[in-house]
Amino acid sequence: MKKGMCITYEVDGNLYINITNRCTNNCDFCIRNNGDGAYGSDSLWLEREPTVEEILGAVFERDLDKYGEIVFCGYGEPTERLDDARACALRIKERTKTPIRINTNGHASLIKGCDAAPLFADAFDTVSISLNTPSAEKYVEKCHPVFKKDGFYGMLDFAKNVNKYVQNTVLSVVRETLTETELAECQKIADEIGVTLRVRTYIGKEDA
Ligand code: SF4
Repeated sequence: MKKGMCITYEVDGNLYINITNRCTNNCDFCIRNNGDGAYGSDSLWLEREPTVEEILGAVFERDLDKYGEIVFCGYGEPTERLDDARACALRIKERTKTPIRINTNGHASLIKGCDAAPLFADAFDTVSISLNTPSAEKYVEKCHPVFKKDGFYGMLDFAKNVNKYVQNTVLSVVRETLTETELAECQKIADEIGVTLRVRTYIGKEDA
């Protein structure tokens, strides 16, 4: 595995920020299983986690106004460093009106051990949460969460809570990994929580 310090990379007109390789899941379909990078980036495996100042240094080298979105993503789960991600997002917001999204597995509250949803207020315009599957059993089977079934239930609680604090809360699923019935069940879950279901195609598009 090649390691480096690739903190920012571009995907489809968006700027992605890579702040950690840690994750509380180990999904079968994780983009990290396919190589070291994403969309032609350098290796996204980090030699070490960059500091807040290093992250901001890499971000501010870019012309932020030209991007559609600025996305806290991975190679890992960005809420493993939620306080740092929030600090960076608030500083970025002082420089640009480009909306900020965070792609997450929804385990922020489980990681923090308390309701982490208020920490998303003002910092992130969109929170995209990987739902992946409509059942806790399947979630454990596909995502191998360290929290076991609580990983699924905690993710749904987080989605409900964070929806009070951010403009757009999205649950995402990968089309190819679900049956029609499962897809309908995922839609029902999103409707019950009152958030959008985003059905994306595989190739790890913007997940990790
Ligand atoms: S897809 Fe996302 S949540 Fe799953 S193992 Fe990869 S980084 Fe973690």
